[in-house]
This record gives sequence, C-alpha cells and structure tokens, in this order.
Amino acid sequence: MFGTAWRVGRIAGIEIRIDNSWAVIALLVTYSMYLRVLFLYGSLSTVGAVGLAILAAVLFFGSVLVHELAHALVSQARGIRVQDITLFLFGGATRARVESSGPGDEFLIAVVGPLTSGILAGLFGIVAGLGRDVLPRPLAGTLGYLAWVNLLLAGFNLVPGFPLDGGRLLRSAIWKATGSIGRATRIASLAGQAVGWLLVAGGVAYLLAGNLAGGIWFAFIGWFLVQAARASYQELQLRHMLRGVEAEDVMAGNLLRIPPDLTLQDAVDDYFMRYDHGAFPVDEQGRTIGLLTLRGVRRVPREQWSARRVRDFMVPLGDQVVVAPDARMDGVLGKLEDGEAGRVLVVQDGEVVGIITPTDLTRWLRRWRTVDGRAR
Ligand SMILES: [Zn+2]
Repeated sequence: MFGTAWRVGRIAGIEIRIDNSWAVIALLVTYSMYLRVLFLYGSLSTVGAVGLAILAAVLFFGSVLVHELAHALVSQARGIRVQDITLFLFGGATRARVESSGPGDEFLIAVVGPLTSGILAGLFGIVAGLGRDVLPRPLAGTLGYLAWVNLLLAGFNLVPGFPLDGGRLLRSAIWKATGSIGRATRIASLAGQAVGWLLVAGGVAYLLAGNLAGGIWFAFIGWFLVQAARASYQELQLRHMLRGVEAEDVMAGNLLRIPPDLTLQDAVDDYFMRYDHGAFPVDEQGRTIGLLTLRGVRRVPREQWSARRVRDFMVPLGDQVVVAPDARMDGVLGKLEDGEAGRVLVVQDGEVVGIITPTDLTRWLRRWRTVDGRAR
C-alpha cells in the first residue's frame, strides 16, 4: 500500500517497520510541538524548547507504537500470527498473516487499540496532574497535552470506517449478524470511504472559510482514509479468492530455459523480446543454476551485450524467494509483498518449475473471474 519501509527492530518477535512517509511526518510533528512549546512557554531557551518538542514527539510516536502492539499481542494471543507493525503518517498498521477466524476475535483485536490509547491518556493525565507542583511547568504541561492527544487518537480510531479500529468493530458486528465476512468487509469498507469523503468535504469547507492549514489537514486525512479503505478491501478480497489455491495453480509454468553460455544479446533477442517474461531460469545439464532477469541485463551497457555471457550476470538461486508447488497462495502473497524482487520461484527437487509475479497473479485473477462468472 505504501512505499518502502525500514526495519527498525523487533518486539516480542514482531518486526517493527517505519514507512518512508513517516520521516516527513516525524519532522512535522516535532516542528508543530516546537511551535506549541514556544508559544506557551516563552521563557524557555531554544535548546530547552527543541528538547521538549523532541521528547513530546517521541512520546507521541511511542504511544502510537504501544497502541499497535496492543493489537498485535492480542492477535498473537488469539493464535493469529502477526507479520509486522508499520508506522506511517499519523498512525500505524498491524499486518496479520491470516484473517481473524471469527467476529469475536476480530472484535477483541480491534477494541484493544482505542482502549490502550484511552489508558495511556489516563496515565499521562495522572502523571501530569501529580507532577504539577514537582515538575517544571513546560514538562507537566506537555505531558497533559499528550493525554489529550492519546484521547484524540482513541476517538479518531473509533470512527466506524474500515480499516480504522472502529471500522473493524463495525465489521465484526455485521459479520456476527450476517455470518458473512465478505458482506461485512464490503459494508465496513464503504463506511470507511464515506467517512473519508466527509473529511475531505470538511477540509474543503475549512479551506473556503479561510483556514488553510486546517483545511489541508482534514482533506489529506480524508483522502488517505478513502485510499486505505479501498486498498484494504481489495487485499481482503484477494486473500479470500486465494483461499485453498496453491502456488502451482497460479505460477507461470512450462518455462523456457536459457543456457548459461549464451551471450546477453542472444538472450535479449531470443527470449526477452520474444516472450512476455521479466526473468528466465538458467539451466545447465537439466539443473537450474540461476535466474537471468531483464533488470539485471539492463544494468550492463548495451554495447557489451554481444560479448558478455548469461552465466556472469545471472542471479544465484540462493538469493531468490523460493516456495514448493503445493505452497498455499495466501502465504505466497505475503512473500510476494515482502520480497524486493517482486517475484517468487516455485521449486521442486532443486529445479525451478514456475515463477509467480504480480502479473501472473493478475492474470490468474482475471481467469478466475471469467470462470467464476459472477459479477463482483
Ligand atoms: Zn488501532
């Protein structure tokens, strides 16, 4: 859904990642905290103000992380393995490897997030209250502000639009009532898009009233929610369709194999230009020894193509993401999303028997829709 993410660490076996977009937001949040501190506590030195702003930003993002960890830990406790937590923009996302098994689990996993933010708000409030006479005034004030921010976080997340927590709660309720996760997801996602558009409309109203910053914020958050609701629905739909499907059903099979001593020029002319594949296995005496990718070939200057051989520019098999033919596609999907190559090799007895790329997946889905015949 987003750009690349940096891995920053692990908590309780769960990978913590930070999205690219987050760096910009971290700066913005720190800067707005700095302006706030400067405005309220004019007597503070610049160093003091910057320090307090950074502390506030760290506590803010720490609060977001604790919120996500609460989702992840409850999820793990219900036997649903968590892939990772990614922090981006104003919040985070916890990705589970599989769907909740029932509306009860879904409810528990969703509700614990806003609940945790509520508890954090209480804790910050108590510390700020107790520290009023002991702590320096700017510090106590900032802690009190974080109590409000966490309360706001809990409130915003309770908005009933998927993929927000409130949307998940809505989904679990509809799921429980109708027994259909598909219908529940569709309605919750539509609610998410509706809320998103409402926020956009609110933003435009703000803009027209002359509040530039507020308007842009609202419109931006709304637009983001619309996109997120749409994307999460599509991903869920995809996972649903892929249930029970195996890697060999989706992979591009009957692969043509490139001999290792071919020149790059011949490989381009006879393979890449002739067939619609971005990569070919390289075989020597019936054994796959590597993979030649178009991207790899393009890195070699064109005038050297007729002198250089495939063998020297192929990618070793060991560097590839590999699955067995009977691997389940919902798992393969995760690997396809994780891997940087955007490709998964299907290997049987040491030989590459198929390749799965997002294009193969799209083709398979198109076939599936045609065969299935129902309008979706
Ligand atoms: Zn949440």
